[in-house]
Amino acid sequence: MRILLDEDQLKQGVEDLASRIDRDYGRSALTVVAVMTGSLVLFADLIRRLSMPQRVGVIQASSYRGGTQSGDLHVDSGMLIDVADRDVLLVDDIFDTGKTLDSLCGVMQEMGARSVRTAVLLHKQREHITSLRPDYVAFQIPDEFVVGYGLDYLDMYRNLPYLAVLEPEEIEATAA
Ligand code: 5GP
Repeated sequence: MRILLDEDQLKQGVEDLASRIDRDYGRSALTVVAVMTGSLVLFADLIRRLSMPQRVGVIQASSYRGGTQSGDLHVDSGMLIDVADRDVLLVDDIFDTGKTLDSLCGVMQEMGARSVRTAVLLHKQREHITSLRPDYVAFQIPDEFVVGYGLDYLDMYRNLPYLAVLEPEEIEATAA
Protein backbone atom coordinates (compact mmCIF):
# COMPACT_ATOMS: atom_id res chain seq x y z
CA MET A 1 0.00 0.00 0.00
CA ARG A 2 1.43 3.38 -0.97
CA ILE A 3 0.34 6.34 1.17
CA LEU A 4 -0.84 9.24 -0.98
CA LEU A 5 -2.14 11.58 1.76
CA ASP A 6 -1.27 11.16 5.43
CA GLU A 7 -3.44 12.12 8.41
CA ASP A 8 -1.99 15.63 8.73
CA GLN A 9 -2.48 16.38 5.04
CA LEU A 10 -6.08 15.14 5.18
CA LYS A 11 -6.80 17.25 8.27
CA GLN A 12 -5.38 20.36 6.61
CA GLY A 13 -7.31 19.65 3.40
CA VAL A 14 -10.62 19.31 5.25
CA GLU A 15 -9.93 22.50 7.23
CA ASP A 16 -9.28 24.42 4.00
CA LEU A 17 -12.43 22.96 2.45
CA ALA A 18 -14.51 24.03 5.46
CA SER A 19 -13.02 27.57 5.37
CA ARG A 20 -13.98 28.01 1.72
CA ILE A 21 -17.53 26.73 2.33
CA ASP A 22 -17.88 28.94 5.43
CA ARG A 23 -16.69 31.95 3.46
CA ASP A 24 -19.24 31.39 0.68
CA TYR A 25 -22.30 30.58 2.79
CA GLY A 26 -21.66 32.81 5.81
CA ARG A 27 -24.23 32.25 8.56
CA SER A 28 -27.08 31.09 6.31
CA ALA A 29 -28.48 27.65 7.10
CA LEU A 30 -27.18 24.79 4.99
CA THR A 31 -28.54 21.30 4.34
CA VAL A 32 -25.47 19.09 4.15
CA VAL A 33 -26.04 15.69 2.54
CA ALA A 34 -23.52 12.84 2.74
CA VAL A 35 -23.25 10.56 -0.27
CA MET A 36 -22.91 7.21 1.46
CA THR A 37 -20.88 5.30 2.13
CA GLY A 38 -17.57 6.67 0.91
CA SER A 39 -18.02 10.18 2.36
CA LEU A 40 -18.65 8.85 5.89
CA VAL A 41 -15.32 9.88 7.40
CA LEU A 42 -14.94 13.14 5.46
CA PHE A 43 -18.51 14.09 6.35
CA ALA A 44 -18.03 13.60 10.09
CA ASP A 45 -14.90 15.76 10.01
CA LEU A 46 -16.32 18.41 7.67
CA ILE A 47 -19.66 19.15 9.37
CA ARG A 48 -17.90 19.70 12.71
CA ARG A 49 -15.70 22.35 11.11
CA LEU A 50 -18.47 24.28 9.37
CA SER A 51 -19.80 27.26 11.31
CA MET A 52 -23.32 27.81 9.92
CA PRO A 53 -26.52 26.18 11.28
CA GLN A 54 -26.90 22.84 9.49
CA ARG A 55 -29.46 20.22 8.67
CA VAL A 56 -27.67 16.95 8.10
CA GLY A 57 -28.83 14.06 5.95
CA VAL A 58 -27.63 11.10 3.91
CA ILE A 59 -28.32 9.61 0.50
CA GLN A 60 -27.03 6.27 -0.75
CA ALA A 61 -25.38 5.98 -4.15
CA SER A 62 -23.32 3.08 -5.35
CA SER A 63 -21.67 2.57 -8.69
CA TYR A 64 -18.83 0.17 -7.96
CA ARG A 65 -20.05 -3.39 -8.03
CA GLY A 66 -17.29 -5.29 -6.31
CA GLY A 67 -14.55 -4.05 -8.59
CA THR A 68 -12.45 -0.99 -9.23
CA GLN A 69 -14.33 0.14 -12.35
CA SER A 70 -17.41 2.32 -12.33
CA GLY A 71 -20.68 0.50 -13.11
CA ASP A 72 -24.38 1.37 -13.19
CA LEU A 73 -25.45 3.93 -10.62
CA HIS A 74 -27.99 2.95 -8.00
CA VAL A 75 -29.50 5.76 -5.88
CA ASP A 76 -31.52 5.20 -2.70
CA SER A 77 -33.03 8.39 -1.23
CA GLY A 78 -35.17 6.53 1.31
CA MET A 79 -33.30 7.98 4.29
CA LEU A 80 -32.96 11.51 2.90
CA ILE A 81 -34.31 14.47 4.91
CA ASP A 82 -36.52 17.12 3.29
CA VAL A 83 -34.48 19.27 0.90
CA ALA A 84 -37.32 21.33 -0.61
CA ASP A 85 -36.53 25.08 -0.56
CA ARG A 86 -33.18 24.38 1.11
CA ASP A 87 -29.64 25.25 0.09
CA VAL A 88 -28.04 21.84 -0.32
CA LEU A 89 -24.38 20.88 -0.21
CA LEU A 90 -23.74 17.33 -1.44
CA VAL A 91 -20.59 15.82 0.07
CA ASP A 92 -18.86 12.92 -1.67
CA ASP A 93 -15.51 11.21 -1.26
CA ILE A 94 -14.24 11.42 -4.82
CA PHE A 95 -15.12 12.89 -8.20
CA ASP A 96 -14.14 10.25 -10.74
CA THR A 97 -16.29 10.08 -13.89
CA GLY A 98 -18.66 12.66 -12.38
CA LYS A 99 -21.69 10.45 -12.95
CA THR A 100 -22.66 10.13 -9.27
CA LEU A 101 -22.71 13.81 -8.38
CA ASP A 102 -24.25 14.78 -11.69
CA SER A 103 -27.18 12.40 -11.07
CA LEU A 104 -27.54 13.39 -7.43
CA CYS A 105 -27.64 17.10 -8.29
CA GLY A 106 -30.57 16.22 -10.56
CA VAL A 107 -32.26 14.28 -7.77
CA MET A 108 -31.91 17.27 -5.39
CA GLN A 109 -33.35 19.61 -8.00
CA GLU A 110 -36.29 17.27 -8.61
CA MET A 111 -36.90 17.31 -4.86
CA GLY A 112 -37.17 21.10 -4.95
CA ALA A 113 -33.82 22.18 -3.50
CA ARG A 114 -33.32 25.97 -3.76
CA SER A 115 -29.65 25.57 -4.65
CA VAL A 116 -27.27 22.62 -4.97
CA ARG A 117 -23.49 22.68 -4.67
CA THR A 118 -21.01 19.84 -4.32
CA ALA A 119 -17.93 19.25 -2.17
CA VAL A 120 -15.45 16.40 -2.55
CA LEU A 121 -12.29 15.32 -0.83
CA LEU A 122 -10.67 14.10 -4.03
CA HIS A 123 -10.79 15.04 -7.69
CA LYS A 124 -9.28 12.47 -10.05
CA GLN A 125 -7.26 13.89 -12.89
CA ARG A 126 -8.93 12.09 -15.77
CA GLU A 127 -11.59 12.74 -18.38
CA HIS A 128 -15.02 13.25 -16.83
CA ILE A 129 -18.21 12.18 -18.57
CA THR A 130 -20.33 15.11 -17.41
CA SER A 131 -20.00 18.88 -17.68
CA LEU A 132 -20.58 19.22 -13.93
CA ARG A 133 -17.48 20.08 -11.88
CA PRO A 134 -17.42 20.00 -8.07
CA ASP A 135 -17.67 23.41 -6.38
CA TYR A 136 -15.25 22.54 -3.58
CA VAL A 137 -12.28 20.16 -3.90
CA ALA A 138 -9.72 19.39 -1.19
CA PHE A 139 -7.17 17.47 -3.29
CA GLN A 140 -6.41 16.70 -6.92
CA ILE A 141 -5.09 13.12 -7.30
CA PRO A 142 -3.76 11.03 -10.19
CA ASP A 143 -6.01 8.46 -11.88
CA GLU A 144 -5.31 5.56 -9.50
CA PHE A 145 -7.58 3.45 -7.33
CA VAL A 146 -7.39 4.74 -3.76
CA VAL A 147 -8.67 3.49 -0.40
CA GLY A 148 -8.84 4.74 3.19
CA TYR A 149 -10.44 7.72 4.95
CA GLY A 150 -13.86 6.31 4.02
CA LEU A 151 -13.03 4.86 0.60
CA ASP A 152 -13.27 1.09 0.24
CA TYR A 153 -12.36 -1.85 -1.87
CA LEU A 154 -14.94 -4.61 -1.38
CA ASP A 155 -16.11 -2.85 1.81
CA MET A 156 -12.64 -2.97 3.34
CA TYR A 157 -10.09 -0.23 4.18
CA ARG A 158 -12.65 2.50 4.98
CA ASN A 159 -11.25 2.76 8.51
CA LEU A 160 -7.68 3.64 7.47
CA PRO A 161 -6.83 7.14 8.76
CA TYR A 162 -4.79 7.88 5.62
CA LEU A 163 -5.43 7.65 1.87
CA ALA A 164 -3.48 5.01 -0.02
CA VAL A 165 -3.11 3.49 -3.46
CA LEU A 166 -3.86 -0.21 -3.48
CA GLU A 167 -1.20 -2.24 -5.29
CA PRO A 168 -2.42 -4.81 -7.88
CA GLU A 169 -1.40 -7.74 -5.63
CA GLU A 170 -3.43 -6.25 -2.74
CA ILE A 171 -6.44 -5.90 -5.03
CA GLU A 172 -6.07 -9.58 -5.91
CA ALA A 173 -5.55 -10.66 -2.29
CA THR A 174 -8.60 -8.73 -1.04
CA ALA A 175 -10.79 -10.21 -3.76
CA ALA A 176 -9.59 -13.77 -3.03
P1 5GP B 1 -18.09 8.74 -10.27
O1 5GP B 1 -19.58 8.60 -10.33
O2 5GP B 1 -17.61 10.17 -10.14
O3 5GP B 1 -17.40 8.00 -11.36
O4 5GP B 1 -17.61 7.94 -9.00
C1 5GP B 1 -17.90 8.34 -7.76
C2 5GP B 1 -17.87 7.16 -6.81
O5 5GP B 1 -17.06 6.07 -7.28
C3 5GP B 1 -17.24 7.61 -5.53
O6 5GP B 1 -18.20 8.13 -4.66
C4 5GP B 1 -16.58 6.37 -5.01
O7 5GP B 1 -17.46 5.66 -4.19
C5 5GP B 1 -16.25 5.55 -6.24
N1 5GP B 1 -14.83 5.70 -6.62
C6 5GP B 1 -14.32 6.36 -7.68
N2 5GP B 1 -12.98 6.29 -7.71
C7 5GP B 1 -12.62 5.55 -6.64
C8 5GP B 1 -11.35 5.14 -6.10
O8 5GP B 1 -10.26 5.43 -6.59
N3 5GP B 1 -11.42 4.39 -4.96
C9 5GP B 1 -12.58 4.02 -4.37
N4 5GP B 1 -12.48 3.29 -3.27
N5 5GP B 1 -13.78 4.41 -4.83
C10 5GP B 1 -13.80 5.17 -5.95
